[in-house]
Amino acid sequence: MAVLPQVHSISSNIPVTMMSKNWPERMSRRALIANAALVLGGAAAGATVTPVAAQQKVRQADAKYQGQPKGTQSCAICASFQPPNACKLVEGTISPSGWCLLFAPNT
Ligand code: SF4
Repeated sequence: MAVLPQVHSISSNIPVTMMSKNWPERMSRRALIANAALVLGGAAAGATVTPVAAQQKVRQADAKYQGQPKGTQSCAICASFQPPNACKLVEGTISPSGWCLLFAPNT
């Protein structure tokens, strides 16, 4: 009786067919490597998509955005400001002379 390798699937969506009793006759080594590459490639692709999809901006009202600076603090000197009128964290049009609770000075 042949000793079968222990194979653990890292994705529940991809069936692991090599656990059958007659695996050596039904699946070549090349097919096994191709299957493993598909599983690992799928896992890597999923890992890169998730963080991008998770990025969402805060509403101006939630960040207490205002069109005027607060003292010496303004969007123009904030690390999240994206000239000419956008912000990495807050949605909508952002004035360089605006301000919000998420202000963090440029270093
Ligand atoms: S102060 Fe607020 S709205 Fe202005 S750039 Fe910084 S994070 Fe964005």
